[in-house]
Amino acid sequence: MLDKVLIANRGEIALRILRACKELGIRTVAVHSVPDRDLLHVRLADEAVCIGPAPSNKSYLNIPALISAAEVTDSVGIHPGYGFLAESAAFAEQVERSGFTFIGPSADVIRLMGDKVSAIAAMKKAGVPTVPGSDGPLPDDNSELYAIAERIGYPVIVKAAAGGGGRGMRVVHSEASLLNAIHVTRSEAGAAFGDDTLYMEKFLEKPRHVEIQVLADGQGNAIHLYDRDCSMQRRHQKVVEEAPAPMIDEEARQTVFKACVDACIHIGYRGAGTFEFLYEDGQFYFIEMNTRVQVEHPVTEMVTGVDIVKEQLRIASGLPLSYKQEDITLLGHAFECRINAEDSKSFLPCPGKVTHYHAPGGNGVRVDSHLYDGYTVPPHYDSLVAKLITYGEDRTTALKRMQNALDETMIDGIRTNIPLHMDIVRDANFMNGGVNIHYLEKKLGL
Ligand code: ADP
Repeated sequence: MLDKVLIANRGEIALRILRACKELGIRTVAVHSVPDRDLLHVRLADEAVCIGPAPSNKSYLNIPALISAAEVTDSVGIHPGYGFLAESAAFAEQVERSGFTFIGPSADVIRLMGDKVSAIAAMKKAGVPTVPGSDGPLPDDNSELYAIAERIGYPVIVKAAAGGGGRGMRVVHSEASLLNAIHVTRSEAGAAFGDDTLYMEKFLEKPRHVEIQVLADGQGNAIHLYDRDCSMQRRHQKVVEEAPAPMIDEEARQTVFKACVDACIHIGYRGAGTFEFLYEDGQFYFIEMNTRVQVEHPVTEMVTGVDIVKEQLRIASGLPLSYKQEDITLLGHAFECRINAEDSKSFLPCPGKVTHYHAPGGNGVRVDSHLYDGYTVPPHYDSLVAKLITYGEDRTTALKRMQNALDETMIDGIRTNIPLHMDIVRDANFMNGGVNIHYLEKKLGL
């Protein structure tokens, strides 16, 4: 087992990784920016290193500072968490070149899946169903662009090959707005991702977002941990997730599970990963793969009993998967609400000091959060402050427990989106299950 792990992240996921390391007897190194010195995991880690000032590009995205921190602490492995450098092939490469173990797939696989155009091509080759689209990057020639959109059929969605976090995409409803949309998305993508390669897909009008969690050890073993539904989104960002995805055609589901496992072997995948799909009219369409642990991984842990972060650490240590597919049984249902420090109506971030924090509890309730009384949420980073996860033997029980857990939660001093969650978990259509990706925005009148 890796002897010492540097956690190249902050907030709840850094704490999550720290807890898994402790369970496995791995020593921990926290790295933090100046304003993050009071983060919970920094206090709990065996060692802590300040890696720079508040701006992420000077701290959590500062590769030389992270590598130096690993060197001075004699760390063996580096866990990137999610966000920041988690999907940076350059980071994975430099970590490995400097003699450390990157806890994730190889830099080559990150690169392959990080470019959505090459990812889609690889998935097609591996037999995973994809969205009808441009089959490669968009050309410059206007008449060719019109022809591609015409062939796919309007509405189409123009997307950045290097896009992420719901940014760098634009829906086009008719020929009249095609060229302008491509032009604007191209310059946005160039500025945001340093790569203005675009591609085009059919814009599905009422899909659900259903994703498949996988684990692979890079030694020829790969398994799936069933599916999650993340259709409750605002601005392409997930708000509530659940596992398993309700009301999915069983045959299509089993076929896609197998395709994902086969694809892991095909691309030489190692670690935890997620295949993201849109699901419409009984069909799955691959959109992208996340080559890292995801925010919503706990719902899968609740229904399978597998500790995904511990598996990541074991795999990075060179151990084979602890499970075979037949060991994985799906039991019950789980929900996750992402609690953000933001106004529940305007969605504007609300950083500040948490004067009082009380976490909910009881049967089937899990809280992944770095909050504590007196903690100040800094304005510099993502506004996620807690993940509230509930489990039940069935969907109704898990949902009822979420309603109760939200009612019990107290976060004073800052505004949060808990009122929005309270509304969502009592929404009749959401309670029935199976709403599509546009449902939340429609409900919010956006
Ligand atoms: P990102 O990497 O930014 O998360 P994705 O490709 O995963 O981008 O897409 C994010 C979200 O955008 C999806 O969950 C879905 O809501 C929407 N989306 C993406 N592609 C399509 C499409 N072809 N049709 C309809 N909605 C889409």
